[in-house]
Amino acid sequence: MKTWNDCVAFHGHECGGLTIGYKASLYAIELLKLEFSDDEQVVCIAENDACGIDAIQVMLGCSIGKGNLLFHMRGKSAYSFYNRKTGESVRLVLKPKPEGITREESFSYYQSLQPKEMFDVKEAIISLPEKARLFDSYTCECCGETAGANWIRLAGGKKLCLDCYETYDRFDV
Ligand SMILES: [Zn+2]
Ligand SMILES: [Zn+2]
Repeated sequence: MKTWNDCVAFHGHECGGLTIGYKASLYAIELLKLEFSDDEQVVCIAENDACGIDAIQVMLGCSIGKGNLLFHMRGKSAYSFYNRKTGESVRLVLKPKPEGITREESFSYYQSLQPKEMFDVKEAIISLPEKARLFDSYTCECCGETAGANWIRLAGGKKLCLDCYETYDRFDV
């Protein structure tokens, strides 16, 4: 299993935020019996995009590229985890820290806590997303570059990539 040192190596520094993601990962591993996700077995939906995300990528193999790290941006220290094999899920919400502690203090504070002391365990409210889909792709009739179907627009009977479409749109009267 990956370690705290692996998380620090990936993230670049030690900090309270990274600790939060690390402990959330450990807790999710325990609660949902997760293993490192080499494909999309584990999905994480994060409600922030701060330091903690890097630990989740390292510990659980949830990553942008595999499509199993998703964002539901709410500015909350909350993470939902899904085990596709068992269908189980959980949402971990960070408990408030003591008032008035400094950055350095919050790092050692979170380091000292057990995962179960740090998070409230709630029900995951967002339903499990579909597996990442592969889209057809088309060649833009303006710039000649290829883009996924999701990012192609029809304008004046032509298939255009979004950048060309926006330019077209701007000059079209
Ligand atoms: Zn950090
Ligand atoms: Zn184009």
